Formats: sequence, C-alpha cells, structure tokens
Amino acid sequence: MKILVVEDEIKLADYLAKGLAEEGFVVDVAHNGVDGLHLASELDYDLIVLDGMLPGIDGLAVLAALRQTKQTPVLMLTARGQVEDRVRGLQEGADDYLVKPFAFSELVARLHVLLRRSNGASGTSAPQAAAEATTLRLEDLELDLIRRRATRAGQRLELTAKEFSLLSLLLRRQGEVLSRTELASQVWDMNFDSETNVVEVAVRRLRVKLDLPFGRTLLHTVRGMGYVLESRTL
Ligand code: CA
Repeated sequence: MKILVVEDEIKLADYLAKGLAEEGFVVDVAHNGVDGLHLASELDYDLIVLDGMLPGIDGLAVLAALRQTKQTPVLMLTARGQVEDRVRGLQEGADDYLVKPFAFSELVARLHVLLRRSNGASGTSAPQAAAEATTLRLEDLELDLIRRRATRAGQRLELTAKEFSLLSLLLRRQGEVLSRTELASQVWDMNFDSETNVVEVAVRRLRVKLDLPFGRTLLHTVRGMGYVLESRTL
C-alpha cells in the first residue's frame, strides 16, 4: 500500500512517515503543496494524508487541483477550530479529516477504513465500516490491523512486519491473483528485478506459518501469474 504524506512540519512529517512505514505502508513525503500535488498527480498512491495549512499552495487548493484528475482517497489534517476548512475540505472531495493533535492509532484506523472503502466495500454505514475495516478475515484466518495480530483457528501467527504487510495485502484483495511485480512494489517499494527472488522467499516463509500447520491451504500459486489468497474446495 503506497501512501503520500503532505505535511510541512518536518518533525510531524518524519514521525508520520516512520510510523506508517512500521505499519507496513510504503511512504513518500512532500513538505509543501507544490511537491505534494506533483507527486499525487504523477504517481499512483492508495492514500494521501494532506495537511490543510501548507506554504505555497495550501491543502485545499492541492485537493481541488488533484480532484480534476484523480480520485485517490484523501484524509485531511486540520487545525483545531477550523470548522470552515473542514467543511470546504469535504466539499472539495476530501474523504475524511482528522483534527490536530491526533492519536497515531486513530490515523491508522481511519486510513484502513478509507482503504477498505476504496477497495469496493460499499453499502455499509460509516460506523459499521470503521469496526469492520480493522479486521480482515478469510475462513479461520483473522488479521487485526490495529493490533497487528494474525491468528488462524485462534492460534497466533508470529509474522515479521513484511510478512504481515504481504498477508494483509493478499487478504484485502482475496480472490485476486497478485503478480510478483505488484507484490514487490506494494510491499517492498521496489521495482521487480528478475534477479531477485525476495517475493518468492517471503511467500515460502509465510506459507510455513500460515498454511503448513493447519492442513488447509489458503495461499495458492497461480503458475506464471502470481499468488492468490482464497478458499478452495477440492
Ligand atoms: Ca502545516
């Protein structure tokens, strides 16, 4: 999952970048509206965290310009008391907002809700979506995104940060075949290079923890295409 953080306060931007990377996101940072708009327009992000008050072009102007071409989900950061900015932000097409100062865990929870929503889970009310979006499931496999805990048949799976990211991506897009190239770029932030087998190695390790002890395979190889996480009845 790729995320762009547009925030001019260097300390806050660094803090967010580090925290989100630890949560398994691939993070880019822009420190002003011009760079932010450029990156957001040129590259494909899954999410954008956009500060409202930026030097040069402010957050609302960045949002308005971006919405001419892209519908990337945007969470806006606003200062306490700036109710009008919030209203305008939502009118300009922000998908959610958080008032500073905020708890990092709340930001992460909101981002997962936006991801879930943009991946096509519609028809649920916002509070329902908020509760559901933090847990991903397939059969007896459960991923708690906030606590970063994976369990299968009630047993805890001890995953590394990358394994957790890989599994959450596969689970979020269950039933869909994901190529090695896509996994490499989404989970490792690298362009696929035929010399490297990092994805295969990670998948192999993940299988030993995820499938081997449980006798029922959820993670399947699709020859020549990639990997898919799904229920199969054979
Ligand atoms: Ca600011």
